[in-house]
Amino acid sequence: MYYGWIHGYYAIDASRDAAQSATEAGSAARRAENALARLEDALDRQGLIIRTLLTACEKSGLFNEAGFRELMNEIDLSDGRLDGKYKPQATPQSCPNCGKTNGKRAVSCMYCGVQLETRDIM
Ligand SMILES: [Zn+2]
Repeated sequence: MYYGWIHGYYAIDASRDAAQSATEAGSAARRAENALARLEDALDRQGLIIRTLLTACEKSGLFNEAGFRELMNEIDLSDGRLDGKYKPQATPQSCPNCGKTNGKRAVSCMYCGVQLETRDIM
């Protein structure tokens, strides 16, 4: 009888812990989904800006595609690696709202969601 009660107590306690963990996991998943949606929006916006810029430059006769690719490779190499990416060195950023440290490439705080800085358009 005594052991039965203890067993029941722990079962209820474990059940509450599991429910709490599930709630926290759900919240974390929603935060991750929101962060991903913001990232996708930012990428879509950057894609629009880049396409607009390229089209404007082509229409203005500033360059042709070969010249553009040559310049793109030059800029790609400026960070030390020809890898189809541009990743200049940057330092981790402190959030102006909560003070926590975010990754050097973060657009918004991963803890409170505040935008970290006025971003350049590129
Ligand atoms: Zn923050």
